[in-house]
Amino acid sequence: MSRVLHRSSKMTFPKAVSGHGIELTLADGRTVIDASGGAAVACLGHGNTRVAQAIAKQASTIAYIHTLFFTSEPAEELAELLVGHEPGDLVRAFFVSSGSEAMESALKLSRQYQVERGQPERVHYIARKQSYHGNTFGALSVSGHMGRRSIYEPVLLPNVSHVAPCFPHHYQQDAETDAQYVQRLGDELEAEFQRVGPNKVIAFVAETIVGATSGCVTALPGYFKKMREVCDRHGALLILDEIMCGMGRSGTTHAWEQEGVSPDIQTVAKGLGGGYGSIGAILVGRKVIDVLDAGTGAFVHGHTYQAHPVACAAALEVQRIIKEERLVDNVKAMESVLGDALRRRFADNQYVGDIRGRGLFQAVEFVSDRNARAPFARGVQFSERLKANALALGLAIYPNGGTIDGQAGDHVIIAPPYNVTSAQIDQIVELLGDAVDLTLSKLTQ
Ligand code: PMP
Repeated sequence: MSRVLHRSSKMTFPKAVSGHGIELTLADGRTVIDASGGAAVACLGHGNTRVAQAIAKQASTIAYIHTLFFTSEPAEELAELLVGHEPGDLVRAFFVSSGSEAMESALKLSRQYQVERGQPERVHYIARKQSYHGNTFGALSVSGHMGRRSIYEPVLLPNVSHVAPCFPHHYQQDAETDAQYVQRLGDELEAEFQRVGPNKVIAFVAETIVGATSGCVTALPGYFKKMREVCDRHGALLILDEIMCGMGRSGTTHAWEQEGVSPDIQTVAKGLGGGYGSIGAILVGRKVIDVLDAGTGAFVHGHTYQAHPVACAAALEVQRIIKEERLVDNVKAMESVLGDALRRRFADNQYVGDIRGRGLFQAVEFVSDRNARAPFARGVQFSERLKANALALGLAIYPNGGTIDGQAGDHVIIAPPYNVTSAQIDQIVELLGDAVDLTLSKLTQ
């Protein structure tokens, strides 16, 4: 009997014993192609010896310091690499150990910013439905993910409200142009500011590309500019969660580079350490830092393991490799290779409703009726079955249910490492096709 409290006590989890590139080896000798890097984490693939050596070197040099007393070389160098060139006026980095911790830090720093600039009456966050920002109480409170919220709903923060995401495939009306849909969403955000009281809002929070909840949903052109305008008009900060879609996964280092805006605070995590270190970060804009520097200068927040030297050394090496090997360019180049392969394999499948995404962050949405864009009944558990069938065929992918409204809908995310080749993409799509066929054949039996 395992003493680990696993994700489910009703399932047994195969033991992964080693990994190399996109391949994992299990204890029983089977191999699995990791086509999603877990949850879009393993951006360099597995078993990178350069990163392993950097970790070993740091662990044997100085593994831990407390940031109340000291700083460390890898933390300093990583911050320099991330914000030394001040992308989008982001000028400082604060390192934590996970995506959820990064979101907590962003939520707290935005509140402190408002207090220090003399607006303590700002107590409310506006976020979006069908979103996921993490599992700690603050991060879950801003998340719209119904499944993950439901049992905690009565104890989540009351000072958070949710507006609609930009999700054209399901929510743009037939008669509506892109510009009209964006305007409607801008009007909805404005109305929410007015309902709450415009001087009550701390920040608006959104994933630049929606990840697990709805499956790689990109915003329409102009959407984030519109949201930024509303925030600026009312003195609220824009927090962009790029924990899943950031650090190169979208084909640019930051997904916001393709949206014509930059955030006041950005969260990153998965692609930052690529799974080699447990690390997340907030990248903080000059506007926020200036207020903090002119005020207390001290962020009223911290963790024992923040800026952990080994985690920072791992992330630093991962980021150096991405730069040296120009892997973000490969993400961009592979975007159409993956998209075309998915379209070739699934375009004629009547149970595939949409294929979408950006860079190496793409999703396939499944439907029971393509014309009506109608989902499978939840009881069918399509995404769960697909995950199991894919794994049996030797493919690990990242499926989720609740795509459309938090309950209905199924999708699967494909997020291979940035150094994936087109031959590997073909292999992934072929196996995914087999897994989908198997799942559908069992449904219709
Ligand atoms: N935000 C987004 C967009 C995420 O995808 C995730 C993780 N799936 C988180 C936040 C939370 O990160 P973590 O699981 O590392 O706490």
